[in-house]
This record gives sequence, C-alpha cells and structure tokens, in this order.
Amino acid sequence: MDKVVSKCGCEFESNQAVADRVRAKGMDKHPMPNPATIACECGHTIVMDTLVYKCPHCKMTYAITPCSCDDHRYIVKAGIDY
Ligand SMILES: [Zn+2]
Repeated sequence: MDKVVSKCGCEFESNQAVADRVRAKGMDKHPMPNPATIACECGHTIVMDTLVYKCPHCKMTYAITPCSCDDHRYIVKAGIDY
C-alpha cells in the first residue's frame, strides 16, 4: 500500500495509521474547522465534523490529521467500523 502523507509532511503506513495517530493524540473528537460533506460509498451524504468520523449508516470510518484538517483532500477512509 502507498504511504499516506499529511499536509505537513507526516507519513503514515496506511489509512488506518492516520486514525490511530489522531486517536493517540486524543483528538478524534476534535471538531473539524470546516465540516466536510462526503458522499459515502453507502449512498448517503454525511457531514464529517470531527477528525475521526464514522458514517452513521454503514460505519465507514473517515480520518484526517489535525495539521491537514482544513483541507478535505487529506481525508482518508480507514475502513468499516475501524
Ligand atoms: Zn456510509
């Protein structure tokens, strides 16, 4: 799998590692400065408003690092119910 690189240049082994890092910092419930509207693969449109967010419909987990959270291109999918 390709490495994930955050906006500030931090490298992560995987999308899951992004979620792990945000949780390790205790920032998974930190609010997004601009909530991201995401067309989830389950067909629902969701609004991601915390740095780690689970789709309430299919439990797909999305994550973004604190340093990247103003740029929605850095949102990664960590997997279902990760
Ligand atoms: Zn979903």
